This record gives sequence, C-alpha cells and structure tokens, in this order.
Amino acid sequence: CQLQDLAVGYGGSASRYQEEKRVVVNKNLGSLISTDMTRCIHCTRCVRFGQEIAGVMELGQAGRGEHSEILAFVGKTVDSEMSGNMIDLCPVGALTSKPFRYSARSWELSRRKSVSPHDALGANLIVQVKQDRVMRVLPLENEAVNECWISDKDRFSYEGLNSPDRLTTPKVKRAGVWVDATWQDALQAVVDGLGSAREKHGADALGVLASPHSTLEELYLLNKLTRGLGSNNIDTRLRQADTSADGTLAGARWLGMKIADLATREAVLVIGSSLRKESPLIAHRLRQIAKKGREINVVNTMDDDWLMKMANKIITRPSSQTLALAGIAKALAEIKGVALAPEIASAIAAVSVSEEAKKIATSLASKEKTAVLLGNLAVNDKNYTAVHLLAQEIARLAGATFGFIGEAANSVGATVVGAEPGANGHCAQGMVNKPRKAYVLFGVEPDYDFHNAAGTRAALGQAEFVVAMSAFQGALANHAHVLLPITPFSETAGTFVNTEGTVQHFNGVVKPLGEARPGWKVARVLGNLLGLDGFEQDNVEAIRKEIAADLPAFVASKLNNALAGVALQMPQIETGVERIADVPIYAADPLVRRAASLQKSADTKNARVAYVARDLFDKLGLAQGGEIKISQGGGVAVMHAAVDAGLPAGCVRVAAAIAETSALGAGAITLEKSALARAAE
Ligand code: SF4
Repeated sequence: CQLQDLAVGYGGSASRYQEEKRVVVNKNLGSLISTDMTRCIHCTRCVRFGQEIAGVMELGQAGRGEHSEILAFVGKTVDSEMSGNMIDLCPVGALTSKPFRYSARSWELSRRKSVSPHDALGANLIVQVKQDRVMRVLPLENEAVNECWISDKDRFSYEGLNSPDRLTTPKVKRAGVWVDATWQDALQAVVDGLGSAREKHGADALGVLASPHSTLEELYLLNKLTRGLGSNNIDTRLRQADTSADGTLAGARWLGMKIADLATREAVLVIGSSLRKESPLIAHRLRQIAKKGREINVVNTMDDDWLMKMANKIITRPSSQTLALAGIAKALAEIKGVALAPEIASAIAAVSVSEEAKKIATSLASKEKTAVLLGNLAVNDKNYTAVHLLAQEIARLAGATFGFIGEAANSVGATVVGAEPGANGHCAQGMVNKPRKAYVLFGVEPDYDFHNAAGTRAALGQAEFVVAMSAFQGALANHAHVLLPITPFSETAGTFVNTEGTVQHFNGVVKPLGEARPGWKVARVLGNLLGLDGFEQDNVEAIRKEIAADLPAFVASKLNNALAGVALQMPQIETGVERIADVPIYAADPLVRRAASLQKSADTKNARVAYVARDLFDKLGLAQGGEIKISQGGGVAVMHAAVDAGLPAGCVRVAAAIAETSALGAGAITLEKSALARAAE
C-alpha cells in the first residue's frame, strides 16, 4: 500500500511500535468493497469522497481516539454508483476490491490502457491483466474526460468478460439441433442464409440490428456490408421509439460542448434522465457546479435523488413533458422579449405557463453560460421529436448550449459512420413493426436491448434466417440459426467516439477467448464471401483511414444537434396508466449484465421492483411488497410493487432490460393485483 511504500522509501524497515495493537472488526459494505479495518489510519479520505465527490456520505467515523472506527450507517451498505473510487483513495488498503481480492498480487499484473465501453462518456481505463485474463480495472487519469474517477460499472464489469456464458465457438442449427461448427462452415451458412432470403424477398428483406456499444470499425464495416447487399435497414438506436425526425436531424447527436465545459455552466436544464445511472460521471460534473451555487433545473418523469441541490424541478407524466417544456419556452420568450419560432408558437398557443416553468425560464434567462441537456429517457420517449424541438427552442431562446447526455459508448460514432437507415431504410422499431425475412444481430440481446422486447422476439421468430454475432450466448439460440462468437472490447482493437465527439482508440488487452474473433474481422470476411467490393482491410488502422484521413476532424464535422424542417405536433395527453421504462445502471449492456458482483448490488435489487404512483397504488389496493401483474404488448410480468410518492399520478416505473420484465412489449399498459396477491387477501 501507499503507506508501506512511504515507510520503505524513508528507510523505516522495522516498526518501533511496542504497545498492543488494536484489532478492528471488518464491516460488510456490500458486494463491491471488502474491508480490512485494522489497517485503517483514520485519514477519512473515504468519508470525504462521499461528501465531496459522490454526493452521499455512506461512511462515517464513530468513536474517539483508539476507539475510532470507519463504518457505514447501521444496517446500510455502500451503494453509490462511484463507490469503487474509495478503494483507490484509501492509502493503506483498508478498503479493497471484493471481486479482485486474493485473485492476484499487484506485481503479477501487467497494466494496459483501454476505454470504457459502458456509457457515452468513454472513461479512460487501466486494465490489469494476468495470464491473458482481465483481473482488475482502474481509472486512467484524463482531466478532459473522467478526471481521476471511474464509475463502478466501468470498474467492476470486467467480471462479465470471463462469464461462463461467453460464446467461444461458432454454432449452426442443423435440423433443429445446435452443433459446433468451424468458422468456415458457419460463415458459409450465413452467406447461404442471407443470400437465400435476398433472392426470394429482395434486399429490403434484410435487417441489421447492432449494439451502439460496438466499435467504430465494426459499425463502419457492418454498414458497408448492409449497403453492399442492397439494404438500407441498419440501426443502433434500439430503444428509440419515435424516429419521425429521421432524415431531418442535421448530424450526430452529442453533448454540444466539451465535457469539461460543464464546469463553466451557470444554469443547466436536464430533460428526461436518470442522470446518476445513465452517466455517473456527468452527474458528478453537475454535482460539482451545484455545490458552487450554480442552478440545476430538471424536467423529468421521476423524482430520483440526484444527490445535488436542485434549483427547480417539474416532475410530470411522460405524455405531459411537452406541456412543461412548452410552458418554459413561452415563459422564456416573454422574459427575453423574443418571439417564439412561428411553427412552435402556433402549436403551443393554448398551453398555459406554470409557476415552476416560469422559475426554470428565469433561471436560464438570468445566466450567461447555460445548457439544455436531453437525457436517454427523453430520447427514448414516444414523443421524442416534439421533446427535441421544444428543448431546441428553449436553448435558442435562452442562448444556451443544446446537447445530449448520450446513451452508449459509440452512439455518436454510429451516426458518424452512417450506421442508420436514412430516408430509404427502416429504423430498429420499423424492423420490428414490419418484420424482415433475415436479420443480422450484432452484439445485441433481443430480450433486453430493444424498446419492444416482445415485438422484437416475434419479428425474429417469423424470419427465415437470423445470424447473431455476439460475445455471449444468452438466449440467442432461441432466435438465431447461426451463432458467431465475436470479442468484447478487451479482446479487440477499436475506436469509440464519446458524447463530446472525442475519438478514442484502444487496443485489445488480452487474446480472444476460444475461437472468438473481432467483429470487424468477421464483417470483413463476410464481405469477401458475399462477393462484395471494398473488404480488403488488414487491420483497424486501414478501416480508420478509409473512414477519413483525419478522423477527429471528420467526426467534428458531423456533430450537430439541429432538427429543422419538422413541424411541432403537440402529442395527445394520455389519461390511462403510463409506464416509465428506465434502463437500470447494471442492465444497460450485455457485459455488465454478466458482472456477478454488480448484479448483487442494491441498484440491481431495486430495479426488480415495480414502483407505482400513490394514486394508482391506492386505487388498485396494492400492498407494499405485494405482487402486481403488469400486462403490456401481449406480454405479462409479475413483480413486487412499492409505492413511489415521487412518481407523477397514474404512472408506474417498470424497468426495461431485466429478466423480470423482458416478457413485456410496448404500447398500452394495464396493472392489476396478481392472483397470489388476491388469494392472500
Ligand atoms: Fe481508513 Fe482507508 Fe478510509 Fe482512510 S480511506 S479512513 S485509511 S478506510
């Protein structure tokens, strides 16, 4: 530990301490942090990290003198989404990583640089490796991106890399039975399957659904393959329900500024976000400015504690978000004495302005440097286009920077390389609503990664051919005819473009597991076997050069959040039950879903509960912890219910991307007591 290093450095080879040494009982701080509290020197760094950085004081010091102890509050664990940073801060190794403990000695590990594949921030990582196995992940300091912090998702997800569910051999389904195959046979089966569907039904019958966590090189070649086969049906925006703005968006949606520039904002409006869970480190940046008295305003569908002081907030039903935003736009126009854009003005003429809307407008209007940020809940809302137009108008009126928090490691990159359908193709939802005859699934899990899980399964079920390229098998055998093992980020070289548009390259840190191969190589060979031109790249550098000679400049030229030429249509206000389908932090991608320790965390446990607004809870006669039956889109889920007084009336918060709710589809939702709950009465 750091203290031992210092002692040795100053020549202290033996202890002069003669007295009896005290022993401190270890504490249970949860599934991520182990304790060895006898080592603790009471520097209180861990306590101050909670207060000053994470925004929540989960550890404190009790007792005096020799009886001092660092401990959590009675019966509590450490549950912050940034808690792992305490391990780095502890100078004596009293706090250590529970998943890493006893698995290797520090000096046995080689250190390699990488980039986090989990959220749009792209935190820089040091990946520590022993015998071709990732053993630990630590932050690599980069002031511009992650400073010296990483989130627990970045730190502990590596456990999923060695999950028993890793797909390590190509597999082909022959006469209804899965058999291991050589790469050659499996790729030939893909060529035959795609070729047959194209011959019978035309190129438009092919759909490609790719993960936005894929690398730039993978998405570039996948897009080239799709277009080469004559199809325009490729998308990575798997959760986006409303794509009516497609074709009118000027470029790739991004933060609108550098991440570090968040520190200079004097007032911010965040719309539709589970901020701490979507992007823990952007939440941290905003927390730091809130501590300086800057104003954080929110329009949201749930009232989660962001662990920072809120200046003003409007918590509203999803279908009413546009009313709240229209009110803010109207109030801003009045305060600033500027006219609303004509097409916006006519659409919101009848909207009334609430007191809270006036306060948010005043907050934005009274400050120089401001920002309006759209979160993932807003982007995946069924009225996204209207929300975007209104947020854009608010930003214009306020003179604010307009940006997106960003969903995945390479959401920006996917748009930059054109892995979107454009005007002539079907978006992800379109490929579900109007099923294709053949699908290529790339790094996705149909049960968890889509807006409409039930609909996606049904679309895949009717297809004549499905090939799934994935690092994990999961339930893909239920949907596919061929399974191709591709590597996760740690076993391939690649590039992610983060939410501020920074291009970050990384190399593989370990060898591919089993017969898994980098996704870009698989796409390239498929291009060759399908007889397409332009698939001769030998390495990722060749692909990068083909994308653009100057990749950072090319990316910069594509960043643009403007939406023009679309008329604002105010959506119908719904009166029935509305679902808020947030994506829990440890369910957002296939790798984190397999990280065993994160799956034992409080966040994961909490996501398995259906949170019901007070009015609905009472109307249905539910009991706290009692069972509730949820029906949506032809699917049914039974969960434990809890009342959430912070939810808007008539709303239920049922998480997406988890096993408990994967049977559900999209559309109208109904709630009732489960048969068990009724029988218990
Ligand atoms: Fe003790 Fe480590 Fe916390 Fe310092 S950081 S108070 S040594 S547990």
